[in-house]
Amino acid sequence: MSPGSWEAAMRCVGAACAGVDAVMDSAADTDIRKVFCIFNQAAIAAAYAVDAYQLERVAVVDFDVHHGNGTQAAFYNRPELFYASSHQAPFYPGTGAESETGVSQNIVNLPLPRGCDSALFRSRIQAEILPAIRRFNPGLLIISAGFDAHRLDPLAGLNLEDEDFYWITEQLMRIADVSCDGRIVSILEGGYSLDGLASGTAAHVRALMGA
Ligand SMILES: [Zn+2]
Repeated sequence: MSPGSWEAAMRCVGAACAGVDAVMDSAADTDIRKVFCIFNQAAIAAAYAVDAYQLERVAVVDFDVHHGNGTQAAFYNRPELFYASSHQAPFYPGTGAESETGVSQNIVNLPLPRGCDSALFRSRIQAEILPAIRRFNPGLLIISAGFDAHRLDPLAGLNLEDEDFYWITEQLMRIADVSCDGRIVSILEGGYSLDGLASGTAAHVRALMGA
């Protein structure tokens, strides 16, 4: 925390909601147990999208290496909100078992073992997360885009490459094209290797740009 933290956190939430406004108009947390962030901008943006645009279903997909315990808690009893997370397990914060499925199978958790490589990541995402998002058929897709599953990350033990972030972004874009006119809001989450964060983010943004 620093004297600038309040304004930075407020701008972060504001940017996420502005992103919802941007993609919706173009067609024209409260958890205090174990958290890395001050506000949960992905969950706030999803709730905002439901309120402001009367969307019936909003999905958040989270490939940050940590389980998004706050997003899951906020969505757990709200069948109009869907949360899918791939994360290292066992790992901080300890939540995110496959048995945690929400009130209406609206939570999908994909725990990945330490050392998980590109092949395992892609096959498990393809088998478990992508079909669930397709079934949910969201009116807006929000990505919690963390890059701490990158092989260079010093805090975590997954071994994803830049190309894996490109790949999952493309997969999500294909689903969004079918279910919600391509509407995606991507929110930058964690990443503790500056090199891995930079190159992973670049790959993600390249995919979003269709480049
Ligand atoms: Zn993280």
